[in-house]
Amino acid sequence: MSPAIRIHRLHCAYPQTPVLRDLTFQVDRGELFIIIGPNGSGKTTLIKALAGLLSISSGEIFFKERSLKHYKQKDLARNIAYVAQADIADSPFTVQEMVLMGRTPYLGILGLDSRADLEIARQAIAFTGLSHLAGRRLSSLSGGERQRAYIARAICQHPELILLDEPTAALDLSHQIRIMDLMERMKTAQGTSVVMVSHDINLAAMYADRLLLLVDGRMAACGPPSQVIDERILSQAYDCGLLVDSSPAGPWLRVNLMRNDPEQNAET
Ligand code: ADP
Repeated sequence: MSPAIRIHRLHCAYPQTPVLRDLTFQVDRGELFIIIGPNGSGKTTLIKALAGLLSISSGEIFFKERSLKHYKQKDLARNIAYVAQADIADSPFTVQEMVLMGRTPYLGILGLDSRADLEIARQAIAFTGLSHLAGRRLSSLSGGERQRAYIARAICQHPELILLDEPTAALDLSHQIRIMDLMERMKTAQGTSVVMVSHDINLAAMYADRLLLLVDGRMAACGPPSQVIDERILSQAYDCGLLVDSSPAGPWLRVNLMRNDPEQNAET
């Protein structure tokens, strides 16, 4: 399988703070790839680096086998969509106006939206189940609706690769599942490669083709959930007691947290 994005010996640092250390991996085309890891392990830094938003200290990121640094910003925006962790809530735009911004990298010299752009935006809004809210201001939407609107904008870009930073954070259970189903549909219906940061290991275990576990900016594990969702690996990474078993809901593994007070944990 040819890679959608390939990372070779990547190091990233903020001033005086090394964050990502010697990361080498690739995401295959049409793969749903989820980055997990404890707080501060470098997940957001990594996804921003993949989006071309951070200058890297050393190493290389290749998109379609060409170094990211050789892409013009407009070309990158046509190929890679990035949905940040918490986008501004008090935007003056309506859902439709904001989603149409996803067409910006394709606009002609006059900067006008063509009929085709409007149709693509309409489809993206429908795909995310927001047609009835197209004329509403973003600031009047719930967190889940707004998150779907930002995803609709990303879809409108017609990207080959979509990068999302914790898209399910702060959403209720049904919205978490809807966002994950949406990403799986992007993958299967459109062949889009999806890379996502998630703080929710169980959700990640249900949907990921592969997981990357970051600890302290290093790769602690990378592989299908059956390899990474492992008691020893995860309890070491997160520094807490946990048990892994088969989910009663489907063919995936489940992580069960243990209380620090051992008397409250069931006998195993
Ligand atoms: P995660 O997403 O896994 O929680 P981050 O990538 O946000 O981790 O952060 C990794 C490390 O980089 C943390 O120690 C954090 O404090 C540091 N960091 C993040 N952003 C900046 C920044 N703009 N300047 C300096 N340090 C930062």
